[in-house]
Amino acid sequence: MADWHTTIRERDFPMLEQAECDGRALIYLDNAATTQCARPVQWALESYWRSQHANVYRGAYCLSRRAGEAVEEVRQLCAEFLGAGSGNEIIFTAGATASANLLADAFALTELRPGDLVLATEMEHHSNLLPWREACRRTGAELALAPVTGEGELDLEALDRLLERRPKLLAVTAVSNVLGTITPLEEIVSRAHRVGCAVAVDAAQAMRCALPGVDVLDCDFLYFSAHKIMGPTGVGVLYGKRAWLEKLTPPRTGGGMVRALPGMEPEYEDVPLKFEAGTLDLAGVAGLGAALEYLHAVGRRRIAAREQALLRYTEKKLRELPGLRVLGSPRRRAGCVSFTAEPLQPLDVAMLLDSQGIAVRSGSHCAIPLHARLGLSGSVRVSPAFYNTAEEIDILAAALARVLDSARKGGVLKDKANG
Ligand code: PMP
Repeated sequence: MADWHTTIRERDFPMLEQAECDGRALIYLDNAATTQCARPVQWALESYWRSQHANVYRGAYCLSRRAGEAVEEVRQLCAEFLGAGSGNEIIFTAGATASANLLADAFALTELRPGDLVLATEMEHHSNLLPWREACRRTGAELALAPVTGEGELDLEALDRLLERRPKLLAVTAVSNVLGTITPLEEIVSRAHRVGCAVAVDAAQAMRCALPGVDVLDCDFLYFSAHKIMGPTGVGVLYGKRAWLEKLTPPRTGGGMVRALPGMEPEYEDVPLKFEAGTLDLAGVAGLGAALEYLHAVGRRRIAAREQALLRYTEKKLRELPGLRVLGSPRRRAGCVSFTAEPLQPLDVAMLLDSQGIAVRSGSHCAIPLHARLGLSGSVRVSPAFYNTAEEIDILAAALARVLDSARKGGVLKDKANG
């Protein structure tokens, strides 16, 4: 009998079997950038457009009422998925980046004053860094980065020293999108809370790795995108503790978020609606709901365990290749493993792999400060998902061995020198 993941791969991700790029079969190992959309999610999107589309909240008619109920059902589903107290703590956004920007703008409006301190870490994705930099720039607050150790862990002692300065908020990733480091969130949150510092968690890379619920983490905010959990692009979630969401001023205004406008002074709707100005990506929300149901049906623990095993295997195979340097050796890793193969450039490695049908990512992965900390301008990232196979990793390792071998013999390097 076939393994569950083989069955699921064939049934729910036929494109992995059928796709070909430039005449080659595809080996898709760029799941940290985006995952393939599961067929049940595609069906939900199709069904939405076929028979459910209407704008929400504003209609007295049946179709609109139903559309509104469907959105609230997904909100509830998200709350359960995240371990949140209620759907009121779930704001729909255009994705993790939009969530971070919305939160940073709200925080800047409501909380930040000149001289305040905001912390992020050296391993943040630009999406969890630049919104905070902007918030600080606008308000005269300072942004400081908690350093990362050579192994790729967050330096907790250095973080403690920064926390002594009583920052207002710490923006931290749950899983690094370069090193795969799983940060010790419960520890970080408890240290931050001791000094009254709020914690915003970027969970973009963490939703397939059995992250504890927000009720356990006790973080104040958390965000993620649907497209990294087999859902559609353009939709995501900002979770916030209710007390925080009630306190924060919405930075975006428009339709659907005020209940009255006496003398042009808006009276905002209750949370979460006050943060959802304008029409949501309603099909996207339906797709997000379908993605959460899909993860639940396949089994979150099963997915996490399978991805852990594949990642360990990937790291082992990469470490066996002479001339290849795996970045970091964090105690707990999820999602991806990155490497360099100097003097080959990451882009060259990725293009040589592409010529053999293997899709991996190269560059800074929107984490320039982290690469700078490691003395690099970029790396190659391999990120398997549960639908990948050990055979695909073997093919990757063999292809890399050939690339490294030909570089050693001067082939690739000589071509580069000449070109
Ligand atoms: N944070 C991390 C850690 C990520 O990996 C990504 C996506 N690469 C984002 C944030 C941004 O996600 P999105 O582009 O879906 O907004």
